[in-house]
Formats: sequence, C-alpha cells, structure tokens
Amino acid sequence: MSFISYSSTRGLKNLGSFSDILLEGLAPDGGLAIPSRYKFFDKNELKDLSKLSYPELASHVLKCFVDDIDIETLKRLCDSAYTPESFGSKEITPLTYLGMEENTDIFLLELSNGPTLAFKDIAMQMLGQFFEFVLEKKGSTLNILGATSGDTGSAAEYAMKDKSKISVFMLSPEGRMSSFQKAQMYSLMDEKIHNLVIPGTFDICQDLVKGVSSDINFKNKYRIGSVNSINWGRISSQIVYYFYGYFRAIEKTGNPFMSPVSFSVPSGNFGNILSGYTAKKMGLPIQNLVLATNENDVLDEFFKTGAYRVRGLSETFKTSSPSMDISKASNFERFIYDVVDNDFERVCSLWKQLNLQGNFLIDDVESIRNIKKSGIVSGSSNHQNRLETIKNVKEQYSRIIDPHTADGLFVARKNLKPEIPMICLETALPVKFAETVFESLGNIPQTPLKFIDVEKKPQKIKNIEANVESLKSFIKEEIEKNDS
Ligand SMILES: *Cc1c(COP(=O)(O)O)cnc(C)c1O
Repeated sequence: MSFISYSSTRGLKNLGSFSDILLEGLAPDGGLAIPSRYKFFDKNELKDLSKLSYPELASHVLKCFVDDIDIETLKRLCDSAYTPESFGSKEITPLTYLGMEENTDIFLLELSNGPTLAFKDIAMQMLGQFFEFVLEKKGSTLNILGATSGDTGSAAEYAMKDKSKISVFMLSPEGRMSSFQKAQMYSLMDEKIHNLVIPGTFDICQDLVKGVSSDINFKNKYRIGSVNSINWGRISSQIVYYFYGYFRAIEKTGNPFMSPVSFSVPSGNFGNILSGYTAKKMGLPIQNLVLATNENDVLDEFFKTGAYRVRGLSETFKTSSPSMDISKASNFERFIYDVVDNDFERVCSLWKQLNLQGNFLIDDVESIRNIKKSGIVSGSSNHQNRLETIKNVKEQYSRIIDPHTADGLFVARKNLKPEIPMICLETALPVKFAETVFESLGNIPQTPLKFIDVEKKPQKIKNIEANVESLKSFIKEEIEKNDS
C-alpha cells in the first residue's frame, strides 16, 4: 500500500497524514488540505462494496483517505459511529422511493435520522470517533472552537458530549436560529459544552473564531481545534452515503449495475456536494450532481456564468432554509483546484483577487471543460417555491420534507433526465423548521420521541460580547479551571 500524504490547494506539500490534518483548520499557507491521490473503484470492486453494511462500507471508503489507522481499528470506529441506536435503523441512511415523474424514479436519501436530525450528524459522529482515537494516541486533549448558524453546532455538541478529552466552545448568533434548533443545542447540560451567544450574525461569529485561531500562541497553548466544514474528515465521511445511496437505488430500480443516477444536493458551503463530486471521481456512476441554492445564490451564479462573486453582509439574506444562508462557500477552493488542473499558483492568484475585489471569473476553455465533466448543474429556489414543494410532496407522496430538502427537490425537478433515477438528499427533518412547514401545510410536523418537550427544557447559554479579547478570556478561564 502506498502512502497518502496531504497537501494544500495553495501548493504547500507534506501537511502530513490523515491524523495530522484532522485536527488542523486551514493549511499554514491559507489553503485547504487535499489527498495526494484518489482511489478509483472498478466495476468488480464496486460490486463488492455494494454488499456491505453501512459501517463496513464506511470503513472501506474511508480507508482510501486514512492510511495511518489500520482497517480493523477503522472498522471499530465506524461501528461505534454508525449504530442503529444513534441513527434509528441499521441502514443508517435509508433510501425511500417517492414516485415517478417525467419517466424518472425519484428517491429520498434519508440523511437526517441521527442525534440532531440533520445530515451533519453523519460526519460529526465519525469525527467524534476519529478525534477520540487520535487524542488517545497522542495523550492529549482538544478544545473545539466553532461557529454555527444552526445545524453544525448541535451536531458537533451531540457528537462530542461524552468524549472525555474534548471540550466544545460554540458561538451562535442571537435570534437567528429556529426555536427547535436553539432548544436542541442550548438544552445540553454538559460541563464541557459551552454555548456562547453573540449579538450579531453568523459571519461575526465566524470572524471571532478566526480572530482567536489566528493567534498561533493562544491556539497552541490552549489546544484549539475546529470542526468547521472545511475539515477533510467531514468531507470524506460524507462520501460514504453517495455510494450507499447508489447501491440501494440500483437494487430498488432493478437497473443494471453501473447504470448512472443523479443526486440533488441542497448546498451552502459546498461540503456535501464536494463529497458527491469526490465519489464520482472515485468511480461511482453519477450522471449529474444538482446543486441547489436558496436566495443566497453565489454558487448557482458560478455554475451558470463562471463568475464567483462573494456577497457582503447586506446581500446575505435570512431565508427559510437558514443552513444554506452563506455569502461565500468555504469548500469551493477544493473544487476550483481541480477545475484549474491542480495549478496551485492559479488558485493563489484567484483567491488573492477574491480578497481584493470580491470576485473572479473562470472562462478558459480547459477549465470550462472540467466544470462540465464534474456533472454539476445548478438552480435556486425562493421561499414561495419551497412552500409549494413542501405542500405538493405532502399531497403527492404523503411525506413531509423540510425547507432545505424542498429546495433540493424543487431544483431537481428542473433537471430530470428520462430513466436516470434522481436521488434527493434529505438534509434535515421537518421538525427542525416547524415554522416554515406550518406556513406551508397549516400543521406542525411530528416530533421524534427523543425530542418531545425539548423546547420546555432549561437552556444553558453564556452571552458574551462580540470581541476577540472577551472570547479569549472566557476560553482561557474555562480551560484553566478544567486543567487544574
Ligand atoms: C449544512 C446544511 C446544508 C448545506 O450543506 P453544505 O455542505 O454546507 O453545502 C444544507 N441543508 C442543511 C439542513 C444543512 O444543515
């Protein structure tokens, strides 16, 4: 077996092995970590993978990126991450048939049956296992510092809460999450989980995190780590359900093995769809990856025009699919690195331009060909589109979907190809966004048993000022309390 090393999209080599990059955020040159090579599965290998249970499949797919943990250990970690107790079924991400539209079978891949009812659990549960294993080996502890607009924060906290070597400091913006999201996250009573509420927006929270992490001395002294969406451990864990969804779709349709399917992906930071794109690179027969945005359509604009133009605060809208309300897409640089044929100097200059003038344009023939080859097509929805999609899915298929999934389905319907099954990723359960579902249907979706009355539970938060120094002194105090 040859060694997989990681390097940066901006050119820095030898970032280390999987376990090394796992605990790091940005690469030292400001780029994102990428593996030195990708495994390509041929038909026979895919056939073998198709027979595996979810955790077994996860260990084989992850093994392509993790060469410093042996397969037996990796299997054990996957078994612990993906249990029926945490995800509600042995299948972990069941594939559900909705029906046929325009001669196309439409499926829902249920990614939201985990501890916090959103797809981010799939990566976070795995990350929790990886972190614990790596920290154990290093004899170290970790303090996770992050910012959330909703789903990431609770997924991270529920994944890390029983891990004795990990504390979490999670910043959230005051008054910007749904009441269910708040209740779910703030009601966790665990001494090592800190919910820090900031007056302002998600971007301000994220800037504060950057402010703290860029102080290298502080970061090292207090062992600050991150779980944000650029984490390669998250991206690689998400690749697994594309394989799983493909295999189940082939079984359910009876289509020949290796015949193509498409996926529709409600997108924000370009993490989920980057995982799908990587699965395609690894040989999974994916026709199209349908990238769906809401009114915050930075990515839709790029795939339609080649212009990537990040948005300012005044142009970042608060929508009914809040987990996709982004002004720039943090994983996008990994995709562009491929688009420009790994020319890291060009990546550097594009991002330099982005920082100076807020946009860049990709219009050379070679790059455009690569974008086409990725299979990514895009579209966007508005509030009304999502309300109508929730309503007609309920009427047609007796199934209630959340506004993010509705966004994906709305855009998927505009990109159907006859006889190529469309797998729509369900990224959250409707109960997380009950206000919008109520607006569409006039009733409230059912609350899963484990969250009944969650909104009545006491909540634990700490209000802090939006400045880096107050944040640092809070973190320092808590860690020193714990260490002594
Ligand atoms: C995070 C999230 C998304 C966006 O996923 P990205 O990986 O950031 O593109 C979509 N839907 C839900 C419910 C989410 O929580």
